Amino acid sequence: MSTAIEKVNCLIIGSGPAGYTAAIYAARAALKPLMYTGLQPGGQLTITTEVENYPGYPKGIQGPEMMEDFKAQAERFGTDVRFGYASKVDFSGPVHKVWIDETTEIHANTVIIATGASAKWLGLPSEEKLNGFGVSACAVCDGFFFKGQDVAIVGAGDTAAEEATYLAKLCKKVYMIVRRSEMRASKAMQQRVINTPNIEILWDSETKEILGEKTVNGALVVNHKTKQDRKLDVTGFFVAIGHKPNTDIFKDWLEMDESGYIKTIPGTSKTKIKGVFAVGDAQDKVYRQAVTAAGSGCMGALDAERYLAEAGIH
Ligand code: NDP
Repeated sequence: MSTAIEKVNCLIIGSGPAGYTAAIYAARAALKPLMYTGLQPGGQLTITTEVENYPGYPKGIQGPEMMEDFKAQAERFGTDVRFGYASKVDFSGPVHKVWIDETTEIHANTVIIATGASAKWLGLPSEEKLNGFGVSACAVCDGFFFKGQDVAIVGAGDTAAEEATYLAKLCKKVYMIVRRSEMRASKAMQQRVINTPNIEILWDSETKEILGEKTVNGALVVNHKTKQDRKLDVTGFFVAIGHKPNTDIFKDWLEMDESGYIKTIPGTSKTKIKGVFAVGDAQDKVYRQAVTAAGSGCMGALDAERYLAEAGIH
């Protein structure tokens, strides 16, 4: 199939808070950014409900609505926002090549990668059905809605341990569902969990089903050693079994850690390739908040602008 070639100064891949913030800054700096949204325009926030911790929205806002606001602001300054999926890149030359949907080839002087990460899920149909209605992959985002209630969290890594202790401060009781007889989390984090009186760890346990029609009203868990089922009376169900950064197409070109998070020069958004910048969750496995992603998107646009100015590209 023949592909159309288009030349741009600044290509932004991804449309979460990081991508849109990069777009706002790049557009206002007259870089005429072109953005491809990816398959989930608006990113992870479009699958959450209420966002209460983003500064500037004192009454809170629905995640999808907030992303519409981000988009409108990016478009107001001239960002060309298009639906499309980047499937291949070639970062070998001074001009960076990115293929979109195998029909368009973009030649970009700068590329800002804002492809984000995706939460891993258990894969239960009930989990999908109740996602956003009691099922969440972000305790910091949604824990508040379960204040004084009983909740469950699945996972045994540092994220699950950290989120379990976070939830324990808000909720009456937290059940931590661990599939093995030990945790992967650091010893210090494990100690913190064990020393929290309102966290009960369910070892060797797996979730059979999340209960509820419209919202979560329980979870069925099986201990695979004793084969005993147990029904947990919970109204919130958190999944913290890891995230996967959406960075597969860049792996032949950029440095990444063992999980696929892109390595940037500390304190910047610069990758090892000049003119290619990485922002948001694609390079951050620790903070992963909308506001931190937005902040790093801003860094990406400023770094791109400076790179173009220093290289004398207009
Ligand atoms: P991890 O990959 O470290 O842990 C995932 C956990 O989920 C494991 O305990 C795993 O179990 C469990 N799990 C995976 N699949 C399933 C499943 N289908 N059912 C039940 N349980 C499942 O991910 P994290 O998000 O916890 O951490 C990612 C990285 O970020 C790590 O390197 C971590 O150290 C780091 N991090 C650091 C923090 C800090 O320093 N403050 C905070 C948060 C993260 P099993 O152990 O059996 O494989």
